[in-house]
This record gives sequence, structure tokens and C-alpha cells, in this order.
Amino acid sequence: MDHGIVWTKGAVGSPAAGPEDVLRLVRGAVRGEPGGRVETLVAECRMCGAGEDEFEVAKGECFCVGCCIPLGVTDGDVCRSSRRWRLEPSEVPLPPASPGPGFEPADLPRCPAGHDVFQVGVALSFTAEGEVRGISVGLRCPVDGAVCLYIDDARVVSYAA
Ligand SMILES: [Zn+2]
Ligand SMILES: [Zn+2]
Repeated sequence: MDHGIVWTKGAVGSPAAGPEDVLRLVRGAVRGEPGGRVETLVAECRMCGAGEDEFEVAKGECFCVGCCIPLGVTDGDVCRSSRRWRLEPSEVPLPPASPGPGFEPADLPRCPAGHDVFQVGVALSFTAEGEVRGISVGLRCPVDGAVCLYIDDARVVSYAA
């Protein structure tokens, strides 16, 4: 159940510091590809539009608190230019994903203060050919600024749907 989420205080533990600290975290976690590049972004809901940047997290995926639509970190929706993908763990296991509908309480990460809604930082590692090869996802509690690495440099395997 515990796959090693380690929470740290963000920049001076301040909620006002903003999501830059979670971007730094994911940028440091993702492995760059030779000749490639790494892009980082703060996730926003595509359905709700700009400004909706808070997500509930379960089963390795992030769900918009406004409309419950998944962000698509597990299947590639998060990156519009990419084909569909699935994730494979690198050195670190992927977050637990329970089978079937409904969330197990153990699937739901919470910050040390018990909050369960997060801003989501994503780092994508692109090859020199522009294909996504790796992803890291970090969570940031907007209330108290705690951050953690949720997906640690997973390998992206693209497939034709
Ligand atoms: Zn939404
Ligand atoms: Zn919190």
C-alpha cells in the first residue's frame, strides 16, 4: 500500500509560494533523454479551462475536482501532441491502482495535514525525435505548500489505440 510517498515542505512551507516548487521537484526527478528535452507544466483541467488546477488523486491518476475528468497521466491525455501511452515503472514502483470502480482509501494520498486536493506538476521527458519517453508527477497541497513526488520517472510506452 505504501509505495514510498515522501512529503516535504515546499518553499518556506508557504501556500503563497505557488507551484514553482513542485515543478522543481518533478524536473529534478525525470531523466532526460540524450539530445532530448524536458518540459514541465502545472496541470490545468482541459474541460474546466484555465484556473482549474486542483485535482483529487487516486489509482495513479489525477481527477479534476470541478468535473472529475482525469488528467490523463496514465494514458497520455495529459500531452496533446503524444500518442496514447501506458506507464511502466523505472526504479520506483508506480502508484497502486486498485482494480474495479470506486476508490480504496489506501489509494488516496493525503498531505501530512490530511488534505486530499492537490495542484499537480508534470515533467515530460522527450526524445530527440519528440516522443515522450518519461514522466514524473508531483503533488502540491495548495493549503500548506507540502509537496511530494507521486510518479517518479515512469517510463512511457506508447501504443496505437
Ligand atoms: Zn475539470
Ligand atoms: Zn495540506
